[in-house]
Amino acid sequence: MSQIKCIGILTSGGDAPGMNAAIRAVTRAAIYNGFEVKGIYRGYKGLITGEIVPFRTQNVSNIIQQGGTILKTARCQEFKTPEGRKVAYDTLMKEGIDALVVIGGDGTLTGARIFASEFNFPIVGLPGTIDNDLYGTDTTIGYDTALNTIMDAVDKIRDTATSHERLFFIEVMGRDAGFLALNGAIATGSEAAIIPEISTEVDQLEELIKNGFRKSKNSSIVLVAESPITGGAMHLAERVQKEYPQYDVRVTILGHIQRGGSPTAHDRILASRMGAAAIDALIEGQRNVMIGIRNNEIEYVPFNKAIKNDKPIDRELLNTLRKLSI
Ligand code: ADP
Repeated sequence: MSQIKCIGILTSGGDAPGMNAAIRAVTRAAIYNGFEVKGIYRGYKGLITGEIVPFRTQNVSNIIQQGGTILKTARCQEFKTPEGRKVAYDTLMKEGIDALVVIGGDGTLTGARIFASEFNFPIVGLPGTIDNDLYGTDTTIGYDTALNTIMDAVDKIRDTATSHERLFFIEVMGRDAGFLALNGAIATGSEAAIIPEISTEVDQLEELIKNGFRKSKNSSIVLVAESPITGGAMHLAERVQKEYPQYDVRVTILGHIQRGGSPTAHDRILASRMGAAAIDALIEGQRNVMIGIRNNEIEYVPFNKAIKNDKPIDRELLNTLRKLSI
């Protein structure tokens, strides 16, 4: 749109590998198209405190390979209040920023949706979260890197599990989404994944116990999504230990190791394409959309659809895991 001259960019919520590649892509694509760019530090907090600096191409040099986010990220309670958002709007006006690209997860896009409708302000969102829990995109920025980190960690734990003939419950991130647990289990040849999406349908632990874990093998690894819906790895391990004291059970919680590290090629390319697409979207007059990539095609997904429109787990993946873990 011709009236947009200056685009602000921020990262918010949980950090994810590939956020820097996205910052770089948004900045470079914007400058390529003749826009000014301003970097906003610490997510929505930077809009309240005015931590904003002009970005040139050099500001984003040599960051594509770095995990985390050079713009920092924060959780900002004030932005959840109308008063806080008014301060943010005043800051944008003062800085001459007339469109925003926000990179983050579900919460970040929720904040963007509310702000955009309150002030009729153009915002484009990029899905940046390891959880892969946003609807309208096959994967989110950071998910593939986290999945690979999980794969490396579980491969290592498998050595101990096999040597000691143990049963390991390994808790992985994902909030209320089981993508990391399910695909992590397939990638590592784990015996099962316990995920929130099917927790209400079946008692997954009961099913696992009924099948005798894996009778033909001397070690078992079960990936558990961290969600309160599954109860977490510790809770499940305690249950098994109580009912089946003969099993040698161990728990590993992978934790924040999953959020860091250099992004994979997949995440760098995804972030680069999405970042460039965010600028195309603004030029085309799109507002209040998240950039998604589905079946290798760029899509503009309205915020309302992307947020809390539960992204279904692929049943084919569940069946594959079941078939291969006999
Ligand atoms: P993520 O983006 O990774 O899901 P959060 O849920 O922590 O992370 O959200 C990041 C930030 O987005 C919050 O700290 C807050 O500033 C903003 N936000 C989240 N939910 C809302 C909301 N309902 N209204 C306004 N802002 C919100």
